[in-house]
Amino acid sequence: MRTHHLSQTRNIGILAHVDAGKTTTTERILFRTGATYKQGEVHDGTTVTDFDAQERKRGITIFSAAVSCTWDGHRINLIDTPGHVDFSAEVERALRVLDGAVAVFDGVAGVEPQSESVWRQADLRGVPRIAFVNKLDRSGADLDAAVASIRARLHVTPLVVQLPIGAEEQFVGVVDLVTRRAYTWDEQTMTEVDVPDPAALHARRRLLEEAVAELHAGALEEFVANDGLKDATLRDALREVTNNRTGVVVLCGSAYKNRGIEPLLDAVVAYLPSPLDVPPVHPDRPAAPDAPFAGLVFKVHAATTGRLTYVRVYSGTITKGATVLDTGTGRTERVSRILHVQADRHTELDDAAAGDIVAVVGVKHAKVGSTLCAPDAPLVLEAAGAAEPVVSVA
Ligand code: GDP
Repeated sequence: MRTHHLSQTRNIGILAHVDAGKTTTTERILFRTGATYKQGEVHDGTTVTDFDAQERKRGITIFSAAVSCTWDGHRINLIDTPGHVDFSAEVERALRVLDGAVAVFDGVAGVEPQSESVWRQADLRGVPRIAFVNKLDRSGADLDAAVASIRARLHVTPLVVQLPIGAEEQFVGVVDLVTRRAYTWDEQTMTEVDVPDPAALHARRRLLEEAVAELHAGALEEFVANDGLKDATLRDALREVTNNRTGVVVLCGSAYKNRGIEPLLDAVVAYLPSPLDVPPVHPDRPAAPDAPFAGLVFKVHAATTGRLTYVRVYSGTITKGATVLDTGTGRTERVSRILHVQADRHTELDDAAAGDIVAVVGVKHAKVGSTLCAPDAPLVLEAAGAAEPVVSVA
């Protein structure tokens, strides 16, 4: 049952320095998309992506997990990446299978050393990113200072597409420079409001357009010809700039206060690439559902429900009941179940097509880095690394 076309899939990770708010942002995304009904808090250990006992105890995200949710007709697969520097091998592993990422920064501290190292890893992997400056409700939070640190330390042109309404405790909402709409939030609800300062908005939009025109040749033509960019052109140009990684779209909010999450999801859909927009994993294996099946194992999790093997499907379709070849171990194994893991529940699938990220049950011997493929079309996607221990839930 394939309900989402490839162009409506986003496989993304959330990258951050520990404590910048990655877990809170992930949890709020799952809440806003309706993937979970219970709003967990990091400090009481109920946050839904932290489903490993050790993680829960330590209060930091150690092990990756992939969680699916839907937003505006798109399937968003969130691949959790640890922010703790000791686990950079795990970050590397997650970066292999995602197509884009949201980099979360602390609105008080700006770019911190670990954000810098994760950013560099993502650069090496060529992962397109957007930035979310979080914690704007905190005292000392300063969007402009955070943006300056992005420019100075990450050597990328920041393209600020949102301005905060109010500061620190009075931070209540954002103005979107692309759509020219403003939103405020109370604890749970987003409300569209009049733009508080249209003149400032106009000036900032002009600056944004000039920066985009500088980074994107097509945009420059329209900018000069029309004395400004149409919204759709601006959005397209921002997508191109994101995908070429010449600049980074910057959004802002407060995950903890539930402010800015919906526009962040809109930006994920608008600016980050779909599996079709990234180069195929192998010349003979296009990201098409009817190509021979190939997928990469990026996580093995011994959950209480059984051994879950997380697979990024790169080409073809994996089908429940089918036999797959694990070129890592040379074994053929039978896929007994295919699951979308959705925070606090699983959805059973009959099959999963190229571009998707799923957990499979029944594949008992695959290791992280193994390729699973159609037995009559063997392939090795990545040289398998050292054997990874299976992570178990106590
Ligand atoms: P992670 O280590 O990046 O996953 O960060 P967490 O999501 O665990 O957040 C670290 C701490 O910052 C927690 O105590 C959160 O409650 C807090 N936090 C996260 N987002 C915000 C925010 O927008 N505003 C404020 N004031 N605190 C936040």
